[in-house]
Formats: sequence, C-alpha cells, structure tokens
Amino acid sequence: MFDSSLNPQQRAEDLSRLAKEHFDVLVIGGGINGVGVALDAVTRGLTVALVEGNDFASGTSSRSSKLIHGGLRYLEQYDFKLVREALHERELLVSSLAPHLVKPVAFLYPLHEKVKERTYVGAGLALYDALRGFKRALPGHKHLSQKTISEIAPSLRTDVVTGAIRYFDAQVDDARHTMMIARTAKRHGAAIITHAKVDSLIKKGKRVTGAVVADLDSKKKINVKASTVIMCAGVWSDQLHKSFGIEPGYEVKMSKGVHITLPGNAIKADEGIIIKTAVSVLFIIPWKDQWMIGTTDTEYLGDPNEPLADRSDVQYIIEQANRVLSPRISTEQVIGVFAGLRPLVANKKDVDTTKLSREHTVDRPVPGFVSLAGGKYTTYRVMAKDAVDMATNDITKLTNESVTSKLPIIGADGYWALTQQVDALAARYNLKSETLVHLLNRYGSDISDLLELISEDRKLATPVSRDLPYLKAEIVYSVMSEGAQTVADVMERRTRIWFEAPNFGLDLAQSIADLIAPHLKWKAPQKKASIAEYVKLVECAKESAANLTKI
Ligand SMILES: Cc1cc2nc3c(=O)[nH]c(=O)nc-3n(C[C@H](O)[C@H](O)[C@H](O)COP(=O)(O)OP(=O)(O)OC[C@H]3O[C@@H](n4cnc5c(N)ncnc54)[C@H](O)[C@@H]3O)c2cc1C
Repeated sequence: MFDSSLNPQQRAEDLSRLAKEHFDVLVIGGGINGVGVALDAVTRGLTVALVEGNDFASGTSSRSSKLIHGGLRYLEQYDFKLVREALHERELLVSSLAPHLVKPVAFLYPLHEKVKERTYVGAGLALYDALRGFKRALPGHKHLSQKTISEIAPSLRTDVVTGAIRYFDAQVDDARHTMMIARTAKRHGAAIITHAKVDSLIKKGKRVTGAVVADLDSKKKINVKASTVIMCAGVWSDQLHKSFGIEPGYEVKMSKGVHITLPGNAIKADEGIIIKTAVSVLFIIPWKDQWMIGTTDTEYLGDPNEPLADRSDVQYIIEQANRVLSPRISTEQVIGVFAGLRPLVANKKDVDTTKLSREHTVDRPVPGFVSLAGGKYTTYRVMAKDAVDMATNDITKLTNESVTSKLPIIGADGYWALTQQVDALAARYNLKSETLVHLLNRYGSDISDLLELISEDRKLATPVSRDLPYLKAEIVYSVMSEGAQTVADVMERRTRIWFEAPNFGLDLAQSIADLIAPHLKWKAPQKKASIAEYVKLVECAKESAANLTKI
C-alpha cells in the first residue's frame, strides 16, 4: 500500500500474493480497460489482482490515435450519448485526473466551399461544444477565414481550402497513461503482474471461482482464487471465451488502424488538421516536434498478437493527407509507423467495421465472470465503473460507490504548482527548462524521483540520443518503477522510440539494454535475448511495410 513502484521485487511479492490470497476481483488484461477496472475496484475497498500476458498497453492501448475526444464523427451518426459522455471524461482528464499527461490540442477542420459546408460543420461544432456541459477546460470552436488559415497553416492547399473552423480536443501518450493508472492501482493496494497469462478458469459447477495463471518468467502455474474474474482482453476476447468454454453475449470484430509519423518540417502548420474521408476521418496530429497521421479502418482477420502496417496502408494515409496539403508529403519522409486493432463489439456477422458500435458492452454470462469490451480509450473510467458495478453481483461484502471521478492519478497532485516553477527547478538541477517541461509532462509531480536519480548520478541527465528527448534517467526509472521488463517494453511503450526514431531506433537497443540490465539483474544471455526479441519485432514490421526508405 502507498508505494506505486512496479519492478522485479514488487512483481515477486505480488506473485506470492496471487498464490496465497483470496481476491474479490481478478482482472485479466492490462490495457486501459483492465487497469481502469483494477483502479476502480481497489479504490472501492475491494481486494484486487491484475494479470497481463505481455506488458501494460501492449495490445490496442498503445496503438491508438492518442486522442481524448468526444469523437466528432459520432455526431454524424447521432450518437449524442457517447459524445457527451466522452466530452465529460475529456474535461475531467484535462483539468483534474491527469493534467500532466492529457493536453489540449487544436484542430483545423478545412472547408471546401463558403456557405453550405461552413453552416453544416459550424452547427456540428457548436453542438460538440454544447455537449461539454458547464465544465469547460478547453476553448470553444472558432470560424477562420482563408487569409487566417494561410498564416496558421501555410501547408493547407489554397486551391481547395476556402477557410476552416478551429476546435479543441485533447491528446495523451496512451501507453504511458495506461501504465500510470496501473501504478495508481498499485499505490492503493492492487497486486499487479505483467508477463503472466491467464491460462484457464477455475470453476465450481457453472460458477467461476478463480483462474490458473502462468508466470511466463518461471513457467510456473498459480491457482488464483477470486470472487469474480473481470476479463478486459480487447481483441483477444473471442479466443479467450472459447478456450474458457464460455458462451458470451457478443463477439468482437477486429478493425486495423495504421498511423505514420513524419518530421515536423514536412507540414507547415501550428495546429492539427482533421479531414473527412469516404469511410471515416483522417487526423494530422502534432506529436512533440513531429506529425502523426492516421488512421485507416480495415477489417482484420489475422493474428491479434502483432498487427502490422503494410505499404498500402501507408500509401492510403499519404494520399488522403495530400488532398489538402501542399507541398505534398511522400513515403520518403515517413519516420515511423504503427498499427493497432480496434476491438469492435459486434452483434451480427458480416457488418462493415466502420459502422459497428463504438460503445462498450459489459457481459456476465455465468456467475463469477464479467467481461468488458469495445468503447473508446477516452471513456475507460466509465466502462471500468460499469464492469465493477456488474461484478458486485458476485461479491458478498458490501461494495462502495466508484470514486475514480475524483481520484487524480499519480503525478497529478501538485502538477499545476510545478508548472509555475519550471525555470527555478531547471536552474536548481542544472537542466534546460525544456528538459524540465518534458519531464513534467511525463511524470507530473513524480518528477522528484527522476531529479533524485540525476542528482545521484549526473551521467543520467544526458539524453539516450542527440535527436530524442528521453534522458538516460528515464530509461533506468522505467525498470525501477514503471514495470518495464524488456528492451521492447522500453522502446515501444515507456518511450515511443519505436515510431519516433528512424529505423525503429534499432541502433539504440544495445545502449538501452546496457542501462536496464543491472536493475533487472540480467546476465549477458538475458541481455542478448531481449535485444534479439526487439530486433525480431523490427524485422517483421520492416518486412510488412517494405521499401519505405527511412523505416
Ligand atoms: C487505430 C486506433 C485508433 C484509436 N484511436 C482512439 C482515440 O484516438 N481515442 C480513443 O478514445 N480511442 C481510440 N481507439 C480505441 C482504443 O484504443 C481502444 O478502445 C482501447 O485501447 C481498448 O483497450 P482494451 O483494454 O479493451 O484492450 P487492449 O489494450 O488490447 O488490452 C487487452 C489486454 O489483454 C491482454 N491479454 C489478452 N489475453 C490475455 C490473457 N490470457 N491473460 C492476460 N492478459 C491477456 C493483452 O495482452 C492486452 O494487453 C483507437 C483504436 C485504434 C485501433
């Protein structure tokens, strides 16, 4: 309790808790929904264990568009309830729950003619603003002329863009946010174990009474006893239902979405851009000093474990962006690429994936087992609450109400005060102000842990590479306190080197391994194996996106 650190020692302690305790709730899956459920349940006073087969957010939750948004396009589908709920969550996250991680971002909606489209889109955005309710952390929309647009976004084609409307949403580093929620759940007493997989369920008659967990490190199996098991397995839901012998009330269709990253100078614009496509929307999103563009939306029938972008995905994104951009962007400028799978809850077979519901489903097919699937990243907190509410049917002790709407996640407490002390802190620790801002936006008030590491060993204040903002201290901290256990965990999710550095940052794998090895007590073979695992992931991704120059 009270310590939020995730590391090898904590993992060993929590594994032994798994074998000994009877938990009120056992959560399967450490994506945003699983960690959200763990936090909701443990802060209601329940005993909780969470088991993740790989790393936090290693599934869909590290591969989203990273927008905390109401979903402008759901307005067109008249899904006002979903939009209102998501906008409410956006306000909470930006203003109080995670202001260090969730930041406002402005988007331009380019218009192609002067009257009809402006009226239609303007009305939609006015409704979008109105659905925020009375809490308003972000500014409202604003109509802009072609002249203003050419100043704000010189890269928007003046031959096709006649003006624009600016509106606000928010963005987040999804993998980091998911891990920080897991740490918050840890702080409140949850047992949290990654790289351990639920193999099967334990049943008494029809009732589920626990699960068999395989520790992927020791290869040992542990019988875990729980009043209720809550499965948050995203695109793995169908396959787990099947192996558990459970007949669910829904099935999950997979839809692949790809993003690419480009250097900052590829597009001249001060704000993001959203354009409508035939099937969905395309976002051109400012991402640190780069651009992230996506996404595609295509049915996916392959292996959920490693979705990959192919050349046609990348070409589609570039073609769509070039409908409004000049100079045109090209495949030669692409720095990185990533692909994710949307878990879409489907009630009927053979439905076009873009038309499937983005709403979530909570199912309790047998006593002692609840599953949660679908929805959006943005509304994870509401979904988690719904799942725990449903699970209370199987928990005999009195369960309190959810408190997560008033529970800032770790690092949020004191964040606003620290933003006003940047220069003083930078001077005290002999860092650049921009480095301090970078750290504040990743750790919030837990920046003190990083500053302590740097004070103890000044070498850790240098970046891992000249072109990346990450300090060596951050790499060390990721295994000391953030639960990273492999080179891939660090490269893909604790940092975003995977898509921010050319060639997937392959040349940094060795130095990252050198930094983390002593803290993970690795000998040479383990270090080599972890680097080799990353190299293999990179080779598969490169082969799939063949012939893109930089990646
Ligand atoms: C391209 C794309 C863009 C998106 N953009 C946005 C956006 O901008 N905003 C937004 O709000 N939403 C967005 N979404 C939706 C959002 O990302 C997802 O709804 C959300 O991440 C799903 O989270 P999850 O926890 O359900 O699934 P996941 O993150 O996939 O988590 C499931 C976890 O279960 C684990 N697991 C599976 N089997 C086992 C087992 N046997 N034992 C233990 N663990 C197991 C997996 O390893 C995985 O980590 C986007 C989705 C995609 C694909």
